[in-house]
Amino acid sequence: TTTTSLIASIFQNTKIDPTIINGGIINSINNIIIGTINNSFLPSDINFVIKLVMAIKPIITEPNKILRQKSIEVESVGKEEQKLMDDMLDTMYDANGIGLAAIQIGVPKRIIVMDIAKNEEKRSPLYFVNPVIKNKNSELSTYEEGCLSVPNYFAEIDRPKKCDVEYLDYNGEKKILNAEGLLATCIQHEMDHLEGVLFIDYLSKLKKTMIIKKLSKQKEKPDRIIV
Ligand code: ZN
Repeated sequence: TTTTSLIASIFQNTKIDPTIINGGIINSINNIIIGTINNSFLPSDINFVIKLVMAIKPIITEPNKILRQKSIEVESVGKEEQKLMDDMLDTMYDANGIGLAAIQIGVPKRIIVMDIAKNEEKRSPLYFVNPVIKNKNSELSTYEEGCLSVPNYFAEIDRPKKCDVEYLDYNGEKKILNAEGLLATCIQHEMDHLEGVLFIDYLSKLKKTMIIKKLSKQKEKPDRIIV
């Protein structure tokens, strides 16, 4: 059946890290195995396992104090940081975002991933560790910005049109990027996250308060289920 082959492919094509096998995944795997036999598995269990294997992390949304934390410099780029960048990229693609800072999944490290190509066939991920802006253009450009941590809200924000960014790449090598246009705006938006700043902080106090109020209300709502 489709279910059996789906499960088989999950386990064949991925290596599950034993350190992440905890009660939750064991329960879900059990449910899937029992469900497969009875033909009554829950799609949520399959989703849970897929997300865990792909390392798609929950994205923290405003209001949440974690997002206001200042991220800390990374000492060196090792296996742990590379795994984090892989997880961040999976999470970002899953959420259809073009940029993600580590703090958005609760890790206060100065790490950003981006892919502004919007091409699922040909992905062009960018990794920035300890990014520093070296040069900013006084000329501004305006984009309508959104943020995975501020779901469903957008606003026009002015930012320097060009900037030079010094950073370490996925392999820990020092690089300089001369960014312009969307790339410049995106990296500046992401670097704000490292300082605990969100794009709504640039709006009037009234607008910002209204957005945060509505986001809080959304959080209080119980989950919607369709049965
Ligand atoms: Zn953002």
